[in-house]
Amino acid sequence: MRTPIIAGNWKMHTTVEEAMELVRAMLDGLQAVPQVERVLCPPFVSLYPVAGLLKGTDIGLGAQNMHWEEKGAFTGEISPLMLKGLCQYVIIGHSERRTYFGETDEGVNRKVKAALAHGLTPIVCVGENLAQNEAGETDAVVSGQVRAAFAGIDAASARRIVIAYEPVWAIGTGRAATGEQASRVIGGVIRGTLAELYDAGTAQAIRVQYGGSTNAKNIREFMAYPDIDGALVGGASLKADEFVEMVRLAAKVKFGA
Ligand code: PEP
Repeated sequence: MRTPIIAGNWKMHTTVEEAMELVRAMLDGLQAVPQVERVLCPPFVSLYPVAGLLKGTDIGLGAQNMHWEEKGAFTGEISPLMLKGLCQYVIIGHSERRTYFGETDEGVNRKVKAALAHGLTPIVCVGENLAQNEAGETDAVVSGQVRAAFAGIDAASARRIVIAYEPVWAIGTGRAATGEQASRVIGGVIRGTLAELYDAGTAQAIRVQYGGSTNAKNIREFMAYPDIDGALVGGASLKADEFVEMVRLAAKVKFGA
């Protein structure tokens, strides 16, 4: 069975002090649910202090972005060498990066390869926007993004990647997809594409989260679908009690515990 994974993407929220306060507020609750892989992705400047708070726990730490080069004249960028040893995960290709910062499928692929090369677990975001959804292009868009992100990556490395299916129209809108919609894309389109790229076993081994307006009220619906392995959580991950509750509910649905 794939280990469920719930990750909190704090986006450009929280000062260092606030980030530490938030971690302190959720730490005990998160530690009580070891069946689920739990990951916090604060802003870059909080990675180091948050890593200190998480030391000795099994809570994972992730960055929200990364450059693919190890070093160089790339003002303002953060490299895999800087993240390595500090955190274990990195979100790559979030739709906000694609939309506001011009990230391309090719850049996403380079970042995924760089993350893997440095022992970081990439959480690769894919998903169609509203216009694409309404035009019936969801399957082609998502499949294309998966193919591009995994280009040139062998099956053993591919198994280390986590995919987050995040329909852009559902992110931060309060309008989540239904569990059925998400499961169709994840189980059909994404695992189908992975099976074509690799084989059925690899397609079943790769973990795929749903993301987009998840909260403590709707998380059970998504987790009830066998193809959905967890969630990438934005807004609700900034509320300690709600995020802990989401992790608890995820464990309850998947393991009945
Ligand atoms: C996200 O940022 O990846 C996200 C899914 O945000 P929200 O949960 O707020 O929709």
